[in-house]
Amino acid sequence: SGKRLPISVAPDNGRKIAIIGGGPGGLTCAYYLKRLGYSVTVFEMQPKLGGMLYYGIPEYRLPKKILDWEIQGILDLGINARVNMKFGVDFDLESLIAAGYEAVFMAIGAWKYSSARLDKEEEVAGVEGATVFLERQGLGVPNPVGNKVGVIGGGNTAMDCVRTSLRLGAEKVYLIYRRSEKEMPANPEEIEAAHDEGIEFVLLSAPHRIVEEDGNLTNLEYLKMELGEPDESGRRRPVPVEGSETLLR
Ligand SMILES: Cc1cc2nc3c(=O)[nH]c(=O)nc-3n(C[C@H](O)[C@H](O)[C@H](O)COP(=O)(O)OP(=O)(O)OC[C@H]3O[C@@H](n4cnc5c(N)ncnc54)[C@H](O)[C@@H]3O)c2cc1C
Repeated sequence: SGKRLPISVAPDNGRKIAIIGGGPGGLTCAYYLKRLGYSVTVFEMQPKLGGMLYYGIPEYRLPKKILDWEIQGILDLGINARVNMKFGVDFDLESLIAAGYEAVFMAIGAWKYSSARLDKEEEVAGVEGATVFLERQGLGVPNPVGNKVGVIGGGNTAMDCVRTSLRLGAEKVYLIYRRSEKEMPANPEEIEAAHDEGIEFVLLSAPHRIVEEDGNLTNLEYLKMELGEPDESGRRRPVPVEGSETLLR
């Protein structure tokens, strides 16, 4: 509706609290502390508040305009925000204590992407982690993709990457997942949207080897899988089929 509901805030109790990280965790903490009467400052290393909602979730799923509006509603309670401030670089615990902060809440998220456990994955140009790719998109800096993109994984982050790659102009986008579609952790509506947009699902396939030439990615070799007994997650464990090395078309 574009209208804000009135939110009650207790009178200022004169006590200062620093929050490190301006994602949903930090902003939620700031919101409740402010309502209890504390004087709250959020320190964020990125130029914009929002954390992964800003630098991870793509625009087509969560428009920045809506996110900015929601965040402004929180700040309007009287919360201070300082962006481009990295804890450990631009300030530290000592400087916060010296400035009169009595408590610090750390809400720095979990930005490290998991490894595909492939040789040379950190070295070969054209291979990178999902959050690195999506962060560039959130920052609004050039984010070129090749004609063919392969995304490894079957969760919501993988869905964000395949769908973003299409929007960046990739002609062919593969989603490579080691189990079947039934075991995918992504939301069903994300899976359906990826199908509708023409993503090719390469299922029961686990990445095996990065193929490169002069340090540049040229292909991905994968192993075909069969589903065995359920593992500790309750999903059937993928088992490699011997001699099934295949190059992505
Ligand atoms: C691609 C992707 C898609 C997702 N989609 C969904 C979804 O659809 N629905 C859903 O519910 N969840 C989704 N999530 C998960 C959701 O984004 C996270 O659960 C949520 O953002 C976690 O909030 P947080 O505040 O703990 O961390 P973050 O959002 O990561 O925020 C941490 C903040 O701390 C800042 N920071 C880190 N280090 C420092 C430092 N040294 N100094 C200052 N600031 C620092 C970071 O810049 C960041 O702004 C998605 C996650 C990803 C990666």
